Amino acid sequence: KGRIFDRPREVLARRKDETSFPAEIAISAFQMDGEWYAAGNVRDITRRKQDEQELKRLANTDALTGIYNRRRFLELAGQEVARARRYGGPLTMLMLDLDHFKAVNDNYGHKAGDLVLQSMVRVCRQVLREVDIFGRVGGEEFMALLPETGLEGARNVAERLRAAVAAESPSVDGTQISCTTSVGVAALEPDMSLEKLMKAVDEALYQAKEAGRNRA
Ligand code: GH3
Ligand code: MG
Ligand code: MG
Repeated sequence: KGRIFDRPREVLARRKDETSFPAEIAISAFQMDGEWYAAGNVRDITRRKQDEQELKRLANTDALTGIYNRRRFLELAGQEVARARRYGGPLTMLMLDLDHFKAVNDNYGHKAGDLVLQSMVRVCRQVLREVDIFGRVGGEEFMALLPETGLEGARNVAERLRAAVAAESPSVDGTQISCTTSVGVAALEPDMSLEKLMKAVDEALYQAKEAGRNRA
């Protein structure tokens, strides 16, 4: 009596040719002339699923560089910190801030600045591993979280990132623009919260800036 499923249900449906697609099925029972019947429908929701996925991707991604945006980075970082605290594995964080980036905009224009940011992210992704979590947390500020990596390993990565960014000079409208970055490094300590870890990495970055920039 009434609905057989209390609400439409999503299933993976299979076509005659064995390929599959996401479908929504709904079935209700109803009575007519003293007899019970069931009526249902199956709807192909491939398009809706694709739209949902695309929306999710857009909500998590920085539009300029294609890496995680601040909100998603912090969400994933919270999960990594909780995991490292539970299982005790090492976890380190890097923070990058481009040096004198205001001058890049002033000298070459905002559009060129954007291209430099994109190029810088491309370079960093080549240095980082697939498991590292990399996000744009501010205009020209980035954070990377390195799971299962201790302080020494992280310092190594930081130096490689610094060197890779310094070595790159993207060409914008025929002009080569070089830019350097300062990098802060901090390790998660026992009972440290994400906020404390971020404060520690921010201080390390500040020291790198104070020490003359273009250093990790
Ligand atoms: P410092 O070495 O101390 O970091 O110097 P800085 O000039 O990089 O410092 P600051 O943080 O004051 O300036 C950051 C600049 O980055 C200011 C802003 O115009 C620029 N910026 C921030 N977001 C974007 C962006 O999305 N595109 C471009 N082109 N520029 C941006
Ligand atoms: Mg900055
Ligand atoms: Mg800067």
